[in-house]
Amino acid sequence: MIRIVGGHVALDLVNTVEPRVPGATDFREHLNTPAELLAWGVRVGLLEEPEAEQVRVAWGASTAAGSQALHASVEVREATYDVLLAVLGVRADASPQLDALGVRWSAATARSGLVLRPGEPVYLDVGTNPATLVQDRLVTAAVELLRTVEPRQLRACPLDQGGCGWLFLDRSKNGSRRWCAMEDCGVRAKSRRLTARRRATT
Ligand SMILES: [Zn+2]
Repeated sequence: MIRIVGGHVALDLVNTVEPRVPGATDFREHLNTPAELLAWGVRVGLLEEPEAEQVRVAWGASTAAGSQALHASVEVREATYDVLLAVLGVRADASPQLDALGVRWSAATARSGLVLRPGEPVYLDVGTNPATLVQDRLVTAAVELLRTVEPRQLRACPLDQGGCGWLFLDRSKNGSRRWCAMEDCGVRAKSRRLTARRRATT
């Protein structure tokens, strides 16, 4: 099962391909079907199981709805990745991708509502239409991340040292987190270094 290491649902979305290499088209895809997208969404807390059931019903009622939602979600993922690479300074520009996110975000906003519950702050209910709920929540999360991200905290698991390229937020006090997950990429890179050293000494 895929690791959840991003520290933000929009980063976890970006990390649904591996390895995550800028410009690469050859990678392992974890969101192959609408069902996989929905199961992942529940796992990362994007939606609750009863909501997922409503989504399942909506997607079951129209064969196009599920595949459209998957297509939209993957588009949000790739646009978010490219914009974050621009935030990191890895790519020079991502204006078309930012525009694409803006279009999807305003559509999501049109399908959202404000809910008043006495004694609580007003609640923004994103995705009032089950057929488009997953993509609406994803693009809303992506825009929220892009608006608030601390570029210093945004890291990529180092590809040049054998990492996977996944993005994550380093919230450690001294900014020392290097790997998406030490027990995964960190250990793999360490054992590769040891092997190389052994080869060099024999
Ligand atoms: Zn990694």
